[in-house]
Amino acid sequence: MRIVFLGAPGSGKGTQAQRLMADFNLPQVSTGDLLRAAVADETELGQRAKTAMDAGELVTDDIVLGIIAERLSEADCSNGFILDGYPRNLQQAKDLEPVLADIGQALDAALLLDVDMDILMKRLTGRRTCSTTGKLLNIYFSPQEEIDAVTAAGGELIQRADDNEETISNRLSVYREQTEPLIDYYRNAGLLQTIEGEGEIDEIYARLKSTLGLS
Ligand code: AMP
Repeated sequence: MRIVFLGAPGSGKGTQAQRLMADFNLPQVSTGDLLRAAVADETELGQRAKTAMDAGELVTDDIVLGIIAERLSEADCSNGFILDGYPRNLQQAKDLEPVLADIGQALDAALLLDVDMDILMKRLTGRRTCSTTGKLLNIYFSPQEEIDAVTAAGGELIQRADDNEETISNRLSVYREQTEPLIDYYRNAGLLQTIEGEGEIDEIYARLKSTLGLS
């Protein structure tokens, strides 16, 4: 199965993609994660991407195209993948077509996770990652026992550098201006499926699987 996840920052793309990856052995291909790894490793590409990421702007199309083309040509993507955070504008959606043609794979669906703006803001400002396990938590929504368990096990709750209020509002405007037009693009291609992205993670996941015809 080859899926593109659409949805604003904080709509739950990463969380739902991680669930699909665990249950169906589909690699989650997140340009955000690949870029953060390049920044952490201080590669040349990471250095070129960092300023845009810190400001909540998009990294240039040629940088992300290079990353995505390389990642999709790896062996684990040959039986399907979940694209999380790519494409992010119309040019990237067009750039993706020849990459998929080259590896002989076509998209099955573009899934839009639909979430209200005020909920997105809380999800993003409250989002934390456990420093030892990588588990995603939210200080507003996660059960207190889960949050306490992280600290009790010696982990720290880390906030992403671009999850501060100023960068978040910029990322949301970038989404509205540049990424939202992709909804029509994939609707016209007959691939769009919209999923109500509010509620419990398990509930949303169940909706998503039923939309995709997975059990
Ligand atoms: P994410 O983890 O998907 O929210 O991405 C974090 C940041 O990485 C974004 O705010 C952008 O600066 C950059 N980024 C991730 N994916 C892309 C993309 N497809 N095109 C351009 N920039 C991206």
